[in-house]
Amino acid sequence: MSCSFDLEHYAEILEAARAGGYRFAHFGDDPERCDLFLRHDIDLSLEAALAMAELETELGVRATYLLMTESVFYNLASVEGVSAISRLRELGHAVGLHAVHPNVVLDERFDPVVSWHNPRPEYMSEEIPSAVNAYSERYFSPETYRSDSNQHWRAGCPHEELRAGAVPWLQILIHPAIWVYPGTTMGQTMRSLVESEKKRRLIQLAEDGIVLD
Ligand SMILES: [Zn+2]
Ligand SMILES: [Zn+2]
Repeated sequence: MSCSFDLEHYAEILEAARAGGYRFAHFGDDPERCDLFLRHDIDLSLEAALAMAELETELGVRATYLLMTESVFYNLASVEGVSAISRLRELGHAVGLHAVHPNVVLDERFDPVVSWHNPRPEYMSEEIPSAVNAYSERYFSPETYRSDSNQHWRAGCPHEELRAGAVPWLQILIHPAIWVYPGTTMGQTMRSLVESEKKRRLIQLAEDGIVLD
């Protein structure tokens, strides 16, 4: 099995988790043996989030998508943003807020779950009034946390330890864009994302009545 950052291997990781006896849990519940908290921080692309969400639902997997209201890459208040949230809900996933510290405005779009975008250690794990902080001590410790940041697993790709049931429970942070767009390095993958955005922007311009001749 090659541990590439693509949807094929992502599906293998999910299958490995199932084979290891893990079940998909919700932030808000106390971690119990065999719980897997599958978290997606959406920094870059709603399109990638939706592609991953569709695959998960096909595989019977429920995840938590944390979306930004202050992203420079997408607008959650746009038609596209509104329809992305409703599709994520239809697919059965939880939707929380990926917040820029200290701004936590949880309106009716969000479940009371928050993860910080690029957090600093001094506030990262602090309790958040009226919301679950995915980085709180209850959910976040080096032994029970794995992240795919910049296509680099610090402790190695988790598929083997999942298949073996080697950790009592786990929170896994997966950024959909780095799995959905093609590329064998982070740089290539990000360039694929930019190319795809370029096409999307041209379509949006035409739809907005802008002449592109
Ligand atoms: Zn792997
Ligand atoms: Zn982020």
